[in-house]
This record gives sequence, structure tokens and C-alpha cells, in this order.
Amino acid sequence: MTRAIAIDGPAASGKSSVAKVLSQKLNLVMVNSGAMYRAMAWKILQLGIDPNDAAAVIAALPTMDLECGVDTSGKLSTVGFDGQWLSDELRSEQVNNAVSAVAKIPELRTILLKKQAAYLESYDVVMEGRDIGTVVFPETPYKFFFKASEKIRQARREAEGITDSIAERDKQDSNRKTAPLKPADDAIIINTEDYDLDGVVACVIEHLETLGW
Ligand code: C5P
Repeated sequence: MTRAIAIDGPAASGKSSVAKVLSQKLNLVMVNSGAMYRAMAWKILQLGIDPNDAAAVIAALPTMDLECGVDTSGKLSTVGFDGQWLSDELRSEQVNNAVSAVAKIPELRTILLKKQAAYLESYDVVMEGRDIGTVVFPETPYKFFFKASEKIRQARREAEGITDSIAERDKQDSNRKTAPLKPADDAIIINTEDYDLDGVVACVIEHLETLGW
């Protein structure tokens, strides 16, 4: 039986950094579900489609064969099209501005949900995103929701040299009808401002042990 740890939270709340360390320490595949939404947004832009034109995005979905895998380390998820993995291009300003619009489209979410669930057929995973505890793996007992003030989160992105209107993305992600950003009822809420990276990891591991991991 495979197991899943779900980590949700707003942009730049520390999910990816913590999930990466957990994947090493607990020997799990770290699945970055945001990268899947970003890859779809990137492809929509490549196709010259307006990401806000939901009908046009839906019409293009059958031609968009997102490939999801695991890298050679065996620890990190990968995304790509036509055998070409995507990485830096997924963090561009254009993708940042387009991703929440495409992520609201239920038809697109259904496709990605299947790909996310498929990881658990082969691997133990730590998956991070917005709806992992509420929609993707609602049965897992290992659910976390990270938060941190908007000021701190914006500063984290700026320190990385990334232009990202995180407040706007959070607003769109929280207010959409399908799978909005919110904690699962049984998620453990962690304010990542209270700790450094090692501190958050230690806190998560302590909770996992209490939960019988
Ligand atoms: O995690 P990241 O910031 O890379 O996610 C990019 C965007 O993908 C989010 O702002 C959100 O619109 C979408 N997303 C989502 N559901 C997830 C993960 C990401 O809607 N599980």
C-alpha cells in the first residue's frame, strides 16, 4: 500500500522547499502539482490561446498531452510535452499571470487530477498544491496546510528574483468554484513564518509520527 502526504497552501508559503526535504528524508517522490498547471498554462500560451478564454482552452485540451514522470534521482516529479521536460520556462512572468485562469477550468482540473492520482499507484508521495488534501487525496490522514503573511511570501519571491503577483493568484485560487485553495477539515495548519526550513520539516515529521507514519 502506498501512502501520500498532502501539503497545501498559498503561493510561496514554503510548500516546495519542505516537500523536497521530506522526499529525501522519508524516501518519497515529491510531486509538484503546481508544475502541472504551469505546464498547461505554458502550452496554452505557446498555442497562442488566450488563457482567459475558457472555451478555447477546453477546445485545445484533446491536443495537449501532458507527460508526467519522475526524474533520474527518482525523487522529483517532471512535466513535459513531446518528450521534452519543462523547468525554468514554467516560472516566467507570463506563466505566473496565466496559470490561475487555466487552473479554474474544471475540465482541465479533471485531466490533471487523474495524473496526480496515478503517482500513488507506483510511489509513496509528498504532493504539494492547493487542493491535495481536499480533492486529490482526501483519504490520506497526513494533511498539512502552510500559511505565512502575504508580505513575507511576496518578499520570498522577490528574493528569488521572480516577478509574481502572488496576492492576485491567491485571490483567484481561493475564489474559484472548483477545488478552491483551502485547508481540509483535518489538515494540520503550520505558520511557516514561525520556523526556518529545518524547523518546518521537523514540525511536519513530528506530526507525521504522532499520526502513525
Ligand atoms: O504551486 P504553484 O504556485 O507553482 O502553482 C501555480 C498555480 O497552479 C496556482 O496559483 C494555482 O492556480 C494552480 N494550482 C492549482 N491546484 C494545485 C496546484 C496548483 O490550482 N493543486
